[in-house]
Amino acid sequence: MKAAILTIGDELLIGQVLDTNSSWIAQQLNVLGIKVEEKISIGDDASAIKEVLTRLLARIDFVFITGGLGPTKDDLTKHTLTDYFNDHLVLHEASLENVKRIFKAFGREINEVNRQQAFQPLEAQVFVNRNGTASGMGFEKGGKWVFSMPGVPFEMKPMLLEQMLPFLSQRFSFPQIIHRTICTQGIGESFVAEKIADIETALPSYIKLAYLPSVGQLKLRLSGYGQASEFEIENFVNLIVARIPEYVFALEDRTLLEVLADLLRARGKTVATAESCTGGYIAHLLTSLPGSSGYYLGGLVAYSNIMKIKSLGVQQKDLDAFGAVSQQVVEQMARGILLSTGADYGIASSGIAGPDGGSVVKPVGTVWIAVVGKEGIFSKEFKFGDNRERNIVRAALTALSILRRKFLLNH
Ligand code: ATP
Ligand code: MG
Repeated sequence: MKAAILTIGDELLIGQVLDTNSSWIAQQLNVLGIKVEEKISIGDDASAIKEVLTRLLARIDFVFITGGLGPTKDDLTKHTLTDYFNDHLVLHEASLENVKRIFKAFGREINEVNRQQAFQPLEAQVFVNRNGTASGMGFEKGGKWVFSMPGVPFEMKPMLLEQMLPFLSQRFSFPQIIHRTICTQGIGESFVAEKIADIETALPSYIKLAYLPSVGQLKLRLSGYGQASEFEIENFVNLIVARIPEYVFALEDRTLLEVLADLLRARGKTVATAESCTGGYIAHLLTSLPGSSGYYLGGLVAYSNIMKIKSLGVQQKDLDAFGAVSQQVVEQMARGILLSTGADYGIASSGIAGPDGGSVVKPVGTVWIAVVGKEGIFSKEFKFGDNRERNIVRAALTALSILRRKFLLNH
């Protein structure tokens, strides 16, 4: 089964609104095993809508449209589709009830413009919108389906998931695509590729491996099409993980922070931070999930030497002898924050994020990270790249990885 996604709205074309609908819909369709072959964005323009539909319906089974269902003059998707499918609008009782319900909740009576929203094409399948006034529609033509949804993501998402996809699943059987994700931190794409080259070559044609990198992290996604079995994919997952075990933090689509947060909670442990080059980014990550007060006590951004000395107890003589970006200093920072907060773990960073401040011995991207706990202290020098923002993110994620691996998991 082939699908296309058509997003409609002048605002998409002038760059005012980012088309997030199409990527979200594509993800949902993929899960069902419906292959998305095209994504198109056009303006609120009747002839453009008709032209694109004719082209798509020649080779596509399902078209998913978002946008242009509102009550204003520039929203013309409903009229255009009704016209295109030789239908006509009639009052749709359930839609009218829905419009009235929504206005009543705001303590308002509906006017004529609102009432117009309850008119729907007679032959179409109508999907009442529980989060808005514009109903969705499904048009059938020669076994192919065109679905039209509101543009507002909050209205569109439940309509697709709760109504249109179940509607389609009842009528068609889709081949399953099995996805498995391996989340890694601290290893680059090319290194992984080298380590698993033979496994990749051995993959059958119906199992695909995708590298999905982001700053400091790399996800490996195995997708099994057609004859692929769960068992077979699981086997490949295990083979890959066995080559890079120290870098893998999850075997499902999760963030490092979610995994770390679960571990900290499960062990009942707390963390505090003393940051220099990461400027509070580790603290930001540690506070980004709800419930973070359960494991994060707080932290300090000790950017200057004076702060490192006064607030963390770093020794002036070590700053003089080794510099702020050194093992001695970063360890003292970690110990200092552990002592002053009473946390179970102290994390510290000190480095040269760039673009300035590098030297031959300590080039831009040199970062020392230390994690300390009752078990002992672990510190290491890393050489990241020359991009300031990326260095900060990579250093922060690396610090969290060290806490997870060396302290919470002990390997
Ligand atoms: P409503 O009935 O609520 O007016 P509508 O179908 O008329 O819905 P649009 O007018 O096309 O929706 O869009 C409303 C808003 O929805 C836009 O201003 C935009 O914020 C958001 N939106 C529209 N299309 C997209 C899209 N493709 N991706 C993300 N957001 C979108
Ligand atoms: Mg619009």
